[in-house]
Formats: sequence, structure tokens, C-alpha cells
Amino acid sequence: MKSFLVTFQNVVRWGIYPLAMTLATVLFFQLQTSDGNFLLATVLPVWACLALIIWAEWFIPFQSEWKPKWQDWKLDGTYVIFIQTILPQVLTWLSALFVLRWWSGLDLPIHQWWPHHWSIGWQEISVILISDLLRYGLHRLSHTWTPLWKLHAVHHSVLKMYWLNTARFHPVEKSLQFLMDVLPFMLLGISEEVIALHLVLYGVNGFFQHCNADVRFGWLNYIVSSTELHRWHHSQHAKESNNNYGNNVIVWDLLFGTFYWPKDRSVTTLGLQNPTYPQRFWGQMKAPVQQDIDVT
Ligand SMILES: [Zn+2]
Repeated sequence: MKSFLVTFQNVVRWGIYPLAMTLATVLFFQLQTSDGNFLLATVLPVWACLALIIWAEWFIPFQSEWKPKWQDWKLDGTYVIFIQTILPQVLTWLSALFVLRWWSGLDLPIHQWWPHHWSIGWQEISVILISDLLRYGLHRLSHTWTPLWKLHAVHHSVLKMYWLNTARFHPVEKSLQFLMDVLPFMLLGISEEVIALHLVLYGVNGFFQHCNADVRFGWLNYIVSSTELHRWHHSQHAKESNNNYGNNVIVWDLLFGTFYWPKDRSVTTLGLQNPTYPQRFWGQMKAPVQQDIDVT
């Protein structure tokens, strides 16, 4: 019985990520409605995979000390509501109302700038690579340029990693990310189907990156920005954390020399250098305008 449990845990360790990404993709295509409404097709696959990730945190935990407490739920839940739900809706609405209207008024031959005739798979890979390159630049600069670091320090204030604190971003940084993740593709007139699938894969991968499950990626660590790699990015030691900037894929880190994966040890301490960095929502909202709150 015990050996069966150990075998099953190993199967989950190695199989849950490919299984979840496949499930998310299949559900996305199954749940699309003929009237072009992508809401269900975008939300349900992420929730289904989230259920798997939460179960994995219980079945194959990585660090028992990283179990969230009520204070963590309260703080990260606030980020989910305001930063990850309401803010993107507002940004999409503002973009449609002002930016897209202005852009279409320029009457540029934008449809010729994107290979709309490619299959959805190749378009999706292109969107992921381009948005990840833009995000790589923003993320790397956020670790070296103080004004951006003060915003990004909010995300690095996590002292334990679990699925929900992938949501922890300052609203200004989240808005900058929107300029790279979504807006360029809206401007290019890329189909809603491609953009919606991007958001699904991005969401599922983001929850995996932060989860407190002992997930193994093997050779996939050279392709995706995985749980195993992203933990090092949250190390308290800058030599370790100033690496693995990738959002969905890790190929730009490999190309630009910031790939970091010590296979013989695990990350020890997470978080910022400053032990008094605020751990409440409003404190973190104000933190970027405070002086000397943390060092890069
Ligand atoms: Zn970072």
C-alpha cells in the first residue's frame, strides 16, 4: 500500500503540469460558444486546473512551513479581487474606449502586421514568445532600476509561496504588464480566441509558478518558467533572485544568460532584505513612494 502511495505521488509530481496544461487547452476549445463568448472558456479551465493545484499542495507539499494562514488569505485575496479581477476589466474597457478608437482612426494597415492565416497553435506560440520578451525586459529592469523595483518589491514581499500569492502585484506594475501582455495584441487585431487562450495558459502557469507542491518539470525546465525555477526568483539573496525572469517561458533567460537552476539544493529564505516591509494591503500600496523601503 505504501509503495503504491509513493508511486502515485511520483506520478503526480511529474505528470500534473502536462496534464493540467492539456486539460486547460482541451476545455478551452470545448467551452467556446458559437456566438464568440469566451468568458466560460477562459474562466472554467483555469478553475479546473486550480482545483488540481490546490489538491497537489495537500498531496505532495513542498514546504509544510509555507502553508498559508488567515492573514495570507486575506492579503492575497484582496489582490485577487482588486488587482487581478477589477483592474484588468477597467484597463480593457479604457483601452477599448480610448486607445483602440484612436488607433483605428490612424487607419494603419495593421492587419498585414500579423500572420492571421497561421494556425491558432503557431499564433499562440508567437504571442507567448513576444509578450514574454516584453515582460522579460520589464521584469529585468524592475530588478535593477530603483523606481521600478519599488513597485516590483510588492511581489517579492511573499515570505512563503503558495498558489494564491501569484496575484500579488502593485496596480501600477500590473498596468505596465497589461501594456505588454494584452494591449499590443489588441492593437494588432489578433483574434479574441488567440488572446483568450493566452490568458488561460498564462493563468494556469502563473498558479503553478507559485504553488507549494513538489512538482517536477525535468527537461521542461528549459522551456517553461516553472515552479522549480520561479522559487529561486523569490529567494532573499539577490544573487539567486536576479535570475529566471521569464513569465511563461524561460527561453529568454537562457538566451540572455539569466537562467538559474541549482539541482543539488533548494531555496532557503524567501522575501525582501527589509524585515519590516509592510505585510498588509494598504501598507504595500504606499510602499513604492516611501524612501529606502528596500534595496535591489
Ligand atoms: Zn521579480
